[in-house]
Amino acid sequence: MDFRLSEEHEALRESVRDFARDAVAPVIAEHYERHTFPYEIVRQMGKMGLFGLPFPEEHGGMGGDYFALCLALEELARVDSSVAITLEAAVSLGAMPIHRFGTDEQKARWLPKLLSGEALAGFGLTEPGTGSDAGGTQTRAVLDGDEWVINGSKAFITNSGTDITALVTVTAVTGTNPDGSKELSTIIVPAGTPGFTVAPGYSKVGWNASDTHELTFDDCRVPAGNLLGARGRGFAQFLRILDEGRIAIAALAVGLAQGCVDESVKYAKERQAFGQPIGNYQAIQFKIADMELKAHTARLAYYDAAARMLAGEPFKRQAAIAKLHASTVAVDNAREATQIHGGYGFMNEYPVARFWRDSKILEIGEGTSEVQRMIIARDLGM
Ligand SMILES: Cc1cc2nc3c(=O)[nH]c(=O)nc-3n(C[C@H](O)[C@H](O)[C@H](O)COP(=O)(O)OP(=O)(O)OC[C@H]3O[C@@H](n4cnc5c(N)ncnc54)[C@H](O)[C@@H]3O)c2cc1C
Repeated sequence: MDFRLSEEHEALRESVRDFARDAVAPVIAEHYERHTFPYEIVRQMGKMGLFGLPFPEEHGGMGGDYFALCLALEELARVDSSVAITLEAAVSLGAMPIHRFGTDEQKARWLPKLLSGEALAGFGLTEPGTGSDAGGTQTRAVLDGDEWVINGSKAFITNSGTDITALVTVTAVTGTNPDGSKELSTIIVPAGTPGFTVAPGYSKVGWNASDTHELTFDDCRVPAGNLLGARGRGFAQFLRILDEGRIAIAALAVGLAQGCVDESVKYAKERQAFGQPIGNYQAIQFKIADMELKAHTARLAYYDAAARMLAGEPFKRQAAIAKLHASTVAVDNAREATQIHGGYGFMNEYPVARFWRDSKILEIGEGTSEVQRMIIARDLGM
């Protein structure tokens, strides 16, 4: 058993750490405050190859693995989660379904621009009326000649309304299975297709420099060839995508938790109270030690899930454990980091205020903490 990173993974981690410090940290607070999408950062991440990390070189990928993506997400989220979720959603939810399930033609058409970061794709699963219970999908797609006609809406879809969004993959009911359950399929809807409307961005508590919209499909017609994978495979497809995505979200949560440690250590050494730095007080030291403990154990949990996935072993339970634990830890550390910063922790100019606002969604997105517990319990035979 060896938890040390390979030379390639270590080099990647170092370069993303430098990038986050030099290119993200100086500008992200302003994007966050103004709720603007960081196009220039995305462009630079594209040049670094981050959008292509876990994909083969054939379609412009970097030939790396999913763990490499996780390391990059951790280092980005250590500085900012809006940028990290933009990358996570673009790769794990946007490009990955096309890579995993697409035809050669779909891959050739979409992957080169998605893997270079020149374009982004959204993953449209959640609906206004149903999130955790994805089987409750109401959006319908009916085959009319050689076109799918889509009607319905999707809620909270990341990267779906940027200037460089090329497509969204949409989960829709396409019929009824022999057992009477809904037949779910996934369809590619290119941006700008008539009948596909992107609502203005939500007013969110956190992730303010990321892009999230409600989408409406009103007699939206796309070619029959836009079906992603086989008809009726939609359920299996999004389960696979979400299982993997949970490891990525766990990595992002670990990054936020570690960023809270970084900021707290720095602040505790500087801030004076009662004649000495607050970091001299054991109460503060113990808080920071507990935060480090949590970030470290959550990191081990996602390393374990990623290692199982890359080895081709079952990893569903471990991915759910990693996501559940890391998101809890992120919320805990953000709360404690804010406490250590006192009143300044409540001021938006301090990174910990951003971490606090960005932490809560980690217990909700890509499967709530309750859903993770359901997955773990089911995997234990309950
Ligand atoms: C900023 C942001 C970005 C997002 N990006 C995307 C995206 O790109 N693509 C996408 O498809 N979705 C996206 N989502 C949606 C996200 O995945 C869902 O919000 C999440 O899965 C929860 O679904 P819901 O909001 O409908 O909550 P609900 O499913 O309505 O759940 C409400 C509460 O009930 C609990 N609950 C539900 N069922 C049970 C049960 N059986 N037992 C116990 N408790 C239960 C839940 O845990 C939760 O606490 C995003 C959301 C946000 C806020």
